[in-house]
Amino acid sequence: MFNKILIANRGEIACRVAATARRMGIRTVAVYSEADAGSKHVAVCDEAVLIGPAAARESYLRGEKIIAVAKATGAQAIHPGYGFLSENAEFAEACEQAGLVFIGPPGSSMRAMGSKSAAKQLMEGANVPLVPGYHGDNQDPAFLNTQADRIGYPVLLKASAGGGGKGMRIVEHSVDFKAALASCKREAISSFGDDKVLVEKYLTRPRHIEIQVFADKLGNCVYLHERDCSVQRRHQKVLEEAPAPGMTPAMRKQMGEAAVAAAKAVNYVGAGTVEFIVEQRAGGEMNFFFMEMNTRLQVEHPVTEAITGLDLVEWQLRVASGEPLPLKQEQLKISGHAIEARICAENPDNNFLPATGTLRVYRKPQASAFERSTVRIDDGVREGDAISPYYDSMIAKLIVHGDTREQALARLDEALARTHIVGLATNVQFLRHAVRSPSFSQANLDTALIEREKAVLFHQEPVGLPQAAAAAVAQTLLDEKALEGTDPFSRRDGWRSHGIATRRFQFEFHGETHEAQLSYLHDGALVLAIAGSSAPLEFSRSGDGIDVRYAGRRQTVTVYSTGELDHVFTAGGATQILATNLLAHAGEGLADAGRLTAPMPGKVVSFSVKAGDKVSKGQPLAVMEAMKMEHTIAAPLDGVVAEVMYAPGDQVAEGAELLKLTA
Ligand code: ADP
Repeated sequence: MFNKILIANRGEIACRVAATARRMGIRTVAVYSEADAGSKHVAVCDEAVLIGPAAARESYLRGEKIIAVAKATGAQAIHPGYGFLSENAEFAEACEQAGLVFIGPPGSSMRAMGSKSAAKQLMEGANVPLVPGYHGDNQDPAFLNTQADRIGYPVLLKASAGGGGKGMRIVEHSVDFKAALASCKREAISSFGDDKVLVEKYLTRPRHIEIQVFADKLGNCVYLHERDCSVQRRHQKVLEEAPAPGMTPAMRKQMGEAAVAAAKAVNYVGAGTVEFIVEQRAGGEMNFFFMEMNTRLQVEHPVTEAITGLDLVEWQLRVASGEPLPLKQEQLKISGHAIEARICAENPDNNFLPATGTLRVYRKPQASAFERSTVRIDDGVREGDAISPYYDSMIAKLIVHGDTREQALARLDEALARTHIVGLATNVQFLRHAVRSPSFSQANLDTALIEREKAVLFHQEPVGLPQAAAAAVAQTLLDEKALEGTDPFSRRDGWRSHGIATRRFQFEFHGETHEAQLSYLHDGALVLAIAGSSAPLEFSRSGDGIDVRYAGRRQTVTVYSTGELDHVFTAGGATQILATNLLAHAGEGLADAGRLTAPMPGKVVSFSVKAGDKVSKGQPLAVMEAMKMEHTIAAPLDGVVAEVMYAPGDQVAEGAELLKLTA
């Protein structure tokens, strides 16, 4: 076994490989770009070497540089992760020539599978079923058009060198063929530098089922069962699970053996995935067709680890160092059900456009990695880290395991609810909707799921205005009391002795402004009025969150504030509400409304008005800082500033009068 390896990747996969290496007593060398100098993968490896600027082609794609680093640091092998150089045959060969072990298949296997059309020709020879289509060398447009006519519409045009869902066109009618072909070729040349395409039958509502294979250098090859990756957006996977719902043992054996045949046909070594597109037929029968083979570890490999109880990176390291496969086919069992959700920085409401930003809050459900635990999180970021535009937008993978699919589903929903991310747009809420959608929960899986369940998936209102406002008010009151270092309820009388009986808030929710009024009753109870209804508000701390009881509902919420924006997380969903803490004023209504008091102890940051200024209702007058947050004090009515009582920088007590207004 190696005693030191270099990990030629970044993010979650670099961290994940490092974790197994550490467990096996193998030292690790990280490489990183300038953008990643402070990143998690650099921190978790034993050594780290800067290899260039942020752009991947100047850093993570520089094969010669990475090989030089491996030599210089005394690493014996290179793990490429996925993406970047992982499927680059020249790089694999250059490693071997430099006397380093490439942890992956030989360059020749990658080349054989690198072209979708060549791979299909090869698979045809190995008797692996193919989608009806044309994948030959003749690229004459008229010829391809007649092939499409023969196959029957709709057909799918695919860039032969394509990947990542790019370079595909669906053609519905013969008349549209030539234009689609031209556009597909343009995209293929610009994305992959090769305009060769193939034509195949476009299956409507197929499933994507792939087989994990593993081969050693001694000629053994096994399959570690299947994963269903049918839930896709833009032809990219979102949710993956194992085993595939509805898979029969006979079908599994047939597909597994076809996958092993595919791997053997290219003298495969290491971890690989054979992807099949599956046509579901009546009576649970499946027609499966070879799509492509990915010659690397896949993003979704953890679901296979969860159901087999194995560590696939450990297998990769063992095989690469020349050991035989640890288990034989008949020893590979399936236990329970696992689902992975890809948490990405992206905007589901805007066609899943990638988002960037800083993870201001990043709270995860409890996890313990690499055991067959119920929840596992693989990530390459920590709270405070940024998701930059240079690399993949994936933040983390959440993997759950249960005895049954139902149990795994419930655990996934719960784990997603406990994943709190603030600072950038993510697909967490979308994933929760997807997991709870009728199609997914009933395992009615196919690649059209997201399209079909649109109404459910893009539904906007997981938490309503009253609940969000109640959570924001509860958080504000708890923050204020925490500042005073007293129990939230012990000071109620104190509040009243200050003469505060009502307090107004203004909220902005889904673009609309709402007024709320909080009243302190004589018995110490609170009543919150918002959006035309008025009800008692009760709350108490509960772990990291708040137990809020309002308007007939009891919920545990967690609120994170960034400036005046409150991010509210509940078991049912998450939302954002902008809370403008209007003022805390002595409560006899408008007569007193001219007094502007500090809603909490803190520091005066600035006044935007001076004595004599005319102001209008709602206009910001002063900014206070407390709890590391800024609070704007706004004018409660139209008037004139009579007097400003403090200067910027002054510390003020709760209830201190900041300025005087005359109506
Ligand atoms: P890439 O290499 O870009 O990921 P694939 O060939 O693996 O491309 O296909 C990606 C996805 O496109 C598949 O998972 C499936 O959802 C869809 N797809 C591919 N081929 C077909 C087909 N013949 N009919 C319908 N959908 C297809």
